[in-house]
Amino acid sequence: MNVLEVQDLRKHYPIRAGLLRREVGRVRAVDGVSFHIARGETLALVGESGCGKTTVSRCILRALRPSAGSIRFAPEEGQEVDLATLPKRQMRPLRRHIQMIFQDPYASLNPRMMVGDIITEPLKVNGVPAAERRERLMELLELVQMPPAARSRFPHAFSGGQRQRIGIARALALHPQLVVADEPVSALDVSVQAQIINLLLDLQDRLGLSMLFVAHDLSVVRHVSDRVAVMYVGRIVEIAPTDALYRAPRHPYTEALLAAVPAPDPARQQRREAARGEVADPANPPPGCAFHPRCPYAVERCRVERPELAATESGRWVSCHRARELDLLGVG
Ligand code: SF4
Repeated sequence: MNVLEVQDLRKHYPIRAGLLRREVGRVRAVDGVSFHIARGETLALVGESGCGKTTVSRCILRALRPSAGSIRFAPEEGQEVDLATLPKRQMRPLRRHIQMIFQDPYASLNPRMMVGDIITEPLKVNGVPAAERRERLMELLELVQMPPAARSRFPHAFSGGQRQRIGIARALALHPQLVVADEPVSALDVSVQAQIINLLLDLQDRLGLSMLFVAHDLSVVRHVSDRVAVMYVGRIVEIAPTDALYRAPRHPYTEALLAAVPAPDPARQQRREAARGEVADPANPPPGCAFHPRCPYAVERCRVERPELAATESGRWVSCHRARELDLLGVG
């Protein structure tokens, strides 16, 4: 049973110019994205800055209204709503089921509120009585491995990693069915990143979390995700089970992203090259495959014909004309 099914999601912005503000083009920030998240599954959505991954997550949270497509969300078995078309008023009661972990643990916590009030704020907004809030606060502090005394201190008393734990506790307060984690470790030191990843792994085990984990590279998602979707210029170019994707990427862009991930066997990593050049402009993407100006394997067909996302093997979808013939070695 899927908790989320995104079908052909699009978010386009008009580009206007001149005195009459006529539309002269469109930024295709998200251009036909489809994926699902099964209950209890973590899907990582990965790509360089500007690829559209944040726009996808903002559409799911309905901070943005999609231009087209559907976002079917099942808060409970047998219940389903399309978040893409739901009127804002009807969205309000659903918000408790979809919670967010923010990127910046410094900016996302109100410095004038005590930690206990921050964590229990969603409970208060949803009318949970004070005694129940106090009880839940203690459970949440224990879940994120913070001492009970943390509740009566202000955020500035804590390190970045501890603040992110507080943000995670707040996100879990209402027992959400889906957590959207927007680069939850990218603002933290590498050693602290590992601690937060371990905490998320522990929470996945204990709570069976369903999560969309947004990240700008592949270095942090290996251990925390069941599957990975790689985005490039508004589209998914590869989606696969995590182990299979790391072992043997099938899209040249995935291969380039993996070049930035330290490998256990450096000799094999040397066979990979990071992507050359700049990310394509979503307002003016190259014709054919948008990755072709950066792709070492591009052929004439790539410059004129856009590849569709197609199944290549069990559980794996790739958008590349040469996916079957290329042998992109994995780091193992
Ligand atoms: Fe490279 Fe062509 Fe595949 Fe695009 S379609 S990734 S340009 S080989």
